[in-house]
Amino acid sequence: MKDTTNILLIYTGGTIGMVKDYKTGALKAFNFKELTSNIPELNQLDCKLKGISFDAPIDSSNMNPDHWVAIATMIEDNYDQYDGFVVLHGSDTMSYSASALSFMLENLSKPVIFTGSQLPIGDLRTDAKENLITSIQIAALKEKGRAVVQEVGLYFEYKLYRANRTTKINAEHFEAFASLNYPPLVESGVHLNVHHTHLFKKLNKNKPLQVHKNMDDNVAVLKLFPGLNQSVLKSILRIPELKALILETYGAGNAPMDQWFLDELKKASSTGLHIINVTQCSGGRVAMGHYETSEKLKEMQLISGKDITTEAAIAKAMYLLGNKVSDELFKTIFETSLRGEMQ
Ligand code: ASP
Repeated sequence: MKDTTNILLIYTGGTIGMVKDYKTGALKAFNFKELTSNIPELNQLDCKLKGISFDAPIDSSNMNPDHWVAIATMIEDNYDQYDGFVVLHGSDTMSYSASALSFMLENLSKPVIFTGSQLPIGDLRTDAKENLITSIQIAALKEKGRAVVQEVGLYFEYKLYRANRTTKINAEHFEAFASLNYPPLVESGVHLNVHHTHLFKKLNKNKPLQVHKNMDDNVAVLKLFPGLNQSVLKSILRIPELKALILETYGAGNAPMDQWFLDELKKASSTGLHIINVTQCSGGRVAMGHYETSEKLKEMQLISGKDITTEAAIAKAMYLLGNKVSDELFKTIFETSLRGEMQ
């Protein structure tokens, strides 16, 4: 007899969980306990579903690391009972949460698929049903008794991406996410096309899941722009307790060559602030030293974010700081791919 595949749906909030009250036209939160009566198609899936929900589902603009810990704990508590997890989340900050979860859940051997939608599940033209149904199917995929996807993914509009490679790029189109530096893991057409070579491969298959719940939020992002002045830079670099700064630079990691700018960065970095050079371009990578405008950053030993997204850089910095990685090792570990977030 075939084993049943059990999938846990975790509803955190967002548009996906809303239905239209056709009498008033207003959007209201969907009763998650009545999932299958609202989406009868779910009864046709070849797996057993259970849904749990945040006590008070939220718009994802209200997400913070405490919510990430809540999601991680729901997965940890149910890890042995389920074959896969689908996290329903608002699209606005989905890439941040999904990136964070990719670091918090070490040695995953089961799929954790984030999804959401641009239109509520109860809307006639909704993208929610396809996103939800295909996410569940992907979470249930097995080969030789093992989960096909063993990492945190983000599924939206026919593509499963590695979560920590994604960015929300559109507030209107159904194709709301992109992963410019890493190809899709699975594409959905007439068939589900799994790109096996792109999937994350665990180095040690037998290591048990380890859940890291300390995320240190003493992190800031500074996006460079022409006209950034010394007083603005100084006040950011001197934020009390600041431990890591994601510096969004131009192109391949370039920045102005003004002496005051370089001196301020040098001072902050030599007094212990971890400064991570991430490109503000959506695709491509940091290559410090390639242009004269990044040579000094390289000399100063700024951390290279390589081709990481800003979302994943924030999550990785919070994770490493939360895990008390020493100042000496921080640069080396940050520049190493931990969950396939950089190359
Ligand atoms: N504002 C909503 C949210 O992120 C949008 C969505 O669900 O896609 O929660």
